[in-house]
Amino acid sequence: ALVLGIESSCDETGVAVVRATDDASELLSDAVASSVDEHARFGGIIPEIASRAHLEAMVPTLRRALDDAGVTLADVDAVAVTAGPGLVGPLTVGASAAKALAVALDRPLYGVNHVIGHVVVDELVHGLFPDRVMALVVSGGHSSLLLVDDAVDGVTELGHTLDDAAGEAFDKVGRLLGLPYPGGPHVDRLAREGDPTAIRFPRGLTAPKDQARHADDFSFSGLKTAVARWVEAREDAGEPVPVADVAASFAASVADVLTAKTIAACRRHGVDTLVVGGGFSANSQLRELAAQRCAEAGITLRIPPVRYCTDNGAMIAAVGAAAVRRGVPASPLDLAVDSSMPLTQVVVGR
Ligand code: ATP
Ligand code: MG
Ligand code: FE
Repeated sequence: ALVLGIESSCDETGVAVVRATDDASELLSDAVASSVDEHARFGGIIPEIASRAHLEAMVPTLRRALDDAGVTLADVDAVAVTAGPGLVGPLTVGASAAKALAVALDRPLYGVNHVIGHVVVDELVHGLFPDRVMALVVSGGHSSLLLVDDAVDGVTELGHTLDDAAGEAFDKVGRLLGLPYPGGPHVDRLAREGDPTAIRFPRGLTAPKDQARHADDFSFSGLKTAVARWVEAREDAGEPVPVADVAASFAASVADVLTAKTIAACRRHGVDTLVVGGGFSANSQLRELAAQRCAEAGITLRIPPVRYCTDNGAMIAAVGAAAVRRGVPASPLDLAVDSSMPLTQVVVGR
């Protein structure tokens, strides 16, 4: 079956085509347009601007995805679209396009969870998931630990960030260090030139008292504040700020906490496969430490290539393919988008 995937939860308009068979999900095309440059001067996403950009980019991006896959709309067997979480205006543009296509083509519509898409996209790269995987999903809006017994009907959220998401913390530290928006990739690049052991920044929720109550939760806002205080103290003393060392030491703290807690959860639940997804899984400090620690722990690590980590249509088509493969009934055509769709809900109507 050919599944069309449409993503519009934030500032990327993504459309992709995936072929779903019994034992594989194969990516045929993945077209993305981004309005990120239009938001840069505001230092954050402006929903109204993003919505208008989706409206303009949707049909050209759809055409490109179909052309690249060498298929026509008539070949499409199912339409999957991001139903949430995300920004309501941008989500509505994608949902409207997907509903129109589903009605016109008389094909099933699946409203899918964006954050789960960040995990399931890995099936396009490394094959279908085994029976049980641990998933760490880290992005601009989320940092959650999930136990995945089934990609559509078996997602349990073990824990999440109590404050900032990992990508959000990087963006804030980027701003603090005077780097362009979004700061995440810039902090990553700067960190590669610094000494990760130069400054010992706090490791959130790793103290024994926190381990008891928040073993699978994360917290990055205290770390961000510690970085701000450290930089301020230097500036107040009239001393130069070693920005690369600050970036490297900050990045080391985030990667340390994420990998240590995730591997501990794998051990506790007896899970031997870890999938890491979301925009922040592009982070090189996290990728390196996860590879090293998973190898030591005998855990199979699956992280998609960087181009599949940020928002795209392929991740949505991948969830649609999983739904089609399981014979899941279509979502209702009057489905509403949900800005705070729970991570345990993968497909609308389940
Ligand atoms: P969500 O998926 O939770 O709805 P989102 O879609 O806005 O949020 P993504 O696009 O998945 O988030 O990820 C974007 C985030 O990832 C941003 O915070 C960005 O700075 C961060 N990011 C991207 N690449 C890197 C990197 N190499 N190092 C650190 N952070 C990065
Ligand atoms: Mg984006
Ligand atoms: Fe995302």
